[in-house]
Amino acid sequence: MTYLQKMMEKAEHILFLTGAGVSTTSGIPDYRSKTGLYTQTTTDPEYLLSQSCLRQEPAVFYDFVTKHMYYPTAKPNIIHEKMAAATHHYDAHVITQNVDGLHQAAGTKDVLEFHGDLYHVYCQKCNEQVDYREYLKNMVHQHCGGILRPDVVLYGETIKQQVLDTAITLLAQADLIVVCGTSLRVYPFAGLVQYRKSTAQIVAINREKITLPFGGKMILEDAAKVFTKLDF
Ligand SMILES: [Zn+2]
Repeated sequence: MTYLQKMMEKAEHILFLTGAGVSTTSGIPDYRSKTGLYTQTTTDPEYLLSQSCLRQEPAVFYDFVTKHMYYPTAKPNIIHEKMAAATHHYDAHVITQNVDGLHQAAGTKDVLEFHGDLYHVYCQKCNEQVDYREYLKNMVHQHCGGILRPDVVLYGETIKQQVLDTAITLLAQADLIVVCGTSLRVYPFAGLVQYRKSTAQIVAINREKITLPFGGKMILEDAAKVFTKLDF
């Protein structure tokens, strides 16, 4: 039995905190690496993904988001699948920064998508929900002429209070926190860890050593390999 599985067997409440790194194996680029989303533009990517860009230049926002962020044929990988299995097998939860919907697609119980989900789209004028495939064809809502948008948290927007409250509750319960696919540098997601119990154990899985803004044990291995070895 691997170190991670032993830790999971001992824990009463497990919490996975995930970021872009868990989806790169599914062919979705991360944000900040050499081949990441942020290298796909000469404009400041944080502007392109901001509320002000959506408001002032909706066509520019639409162009960037629909060309570079939607991967509707991407499939969950072994990391999503094993985490999903863990949520059925243990008292385990997932909080993700990802907006790709892959934890949901893998059948994760009660996944908390901290920044929302690109595949939920609504009209800013009439609030109607619209199929993302319609959005990929046209940013204008055919019924009312309003501008559509994905239900994700943009730069300049705040996390919904209910999402924050749920996240904090999960942090406060967990006695094992498994950090995967993120170096926990982007706030407010990174700040969630401060709500953990003082006795909670933290394990971070990453190919290279990362400096975590808190203590914890590192598993220096490819996350896909680590999760493949979990036996349940
Ligand atoms: Zn509308």
